[in-house]
Amino acid sequence: MDMIVANDRAELAGARQALGVGGAGGGTLALVPTMGALHEGHRSLIRLAGEHADHVAVSVFVNPLQFGPGEDYARYPRTFEADLEVCAAEGAGVVFAPSAEEMYLPDRQVSVSAGKMGTVAEGAFRPGHFDGMLTVVLKLFNLVRPDAAVFGRKDAQQLALIRRMAADLNLPISIVGAPTVREADGLALSSRNRYLSPEDRTAALALSRALFAGAELAETGRSTPGEIRRAARAVLDAEPGADVDYLILADPATFAEVGDDHGGEAVLAVAARVGTTRLIDNVVLTLG
Ligand code: AMP
Repeated sequence: MDMIVANDRAELAGARQALGVGGAGGGTLALVPTMGALHEGHRSLIRLAGEHADHVAVSVFVNPLQFGPGEDYARYPRTFEADLEVCAAEGAGVVFAPSAEEMYLPDRQVSVSAGKMGTVAEGAFRPGHFDGMLTVVLKLFNLVRPDAAVFGRKDAQQLALIRRMAADLNLPISIVGAPTVREADGLALSSRNRYLSPEDRTAALALSRALFAGAELAETGRSTPGEIRRAARAVLDAEPGADVDYLILADPATFAEVGDDHGGEAVLAVAARVGTTRLIDNVVLTLG
């Protein structure tokens, strides 16, 4: 069957029916929410979604609610025709691509609050971002009604918040985390990488290099969180083209910074501005 493109909720309901999703004996559906400008990282999510359900839905929606004033909503890359080809090639059954008017009522009032966890790390630099992200993800869940949803670990705090929302609000959806896809030289794939000039691209490598330096130190099993942070920081400080917003070693479930007595998993996460582009990346380490 050809992939269905749904632009509104009626077409989406029709697509669910055409695919035979839901109901007694019906197939299962996994959702991959995206903002489009799809790359190899998104492709890997679509493939992983196919392992978790009979059918895969991909949403393509640049969500105005999760961009702050002065952020890159207007210039965010929009490559819809190419995105459709990617989705079809990876076996998606339906692409849901609503307009902002379809998603948001003009008099909307109610939204999801990310709570304290939405105000630390990435949330401290992007006030309201995680509230906007959770609100659109919950709306997409309600419209698409998937059995599972796949998110990249590249956006580790986003994934942790979605898991939190699913637990706190009793969502009947299993949340699947997918590994970060990188270029051969370590740069994490991102729709925003296309903004990078060749010089920016070289400077951007400092992010993954810093994270890998921290990970290598953690692997010795003898380094404290303080030492790991300092080693990663030194790599970033040596790159004048990368302007660091934060570098944290945090609990992967809460994003609170870990103390020197922390054992077990921790996430080393960084955000930096390179040229006019803001990039984020992280790796998960085992401490102690
Ligand atoms: P975005 O379109 O950037 O909002 O991302 C949509 C989904 O793709 C999110 O779950 C991201 O975490 C995930 N994603 C983005 N970049 C990567 C990557 N390099 N590797 C794996 N997943 C990614």
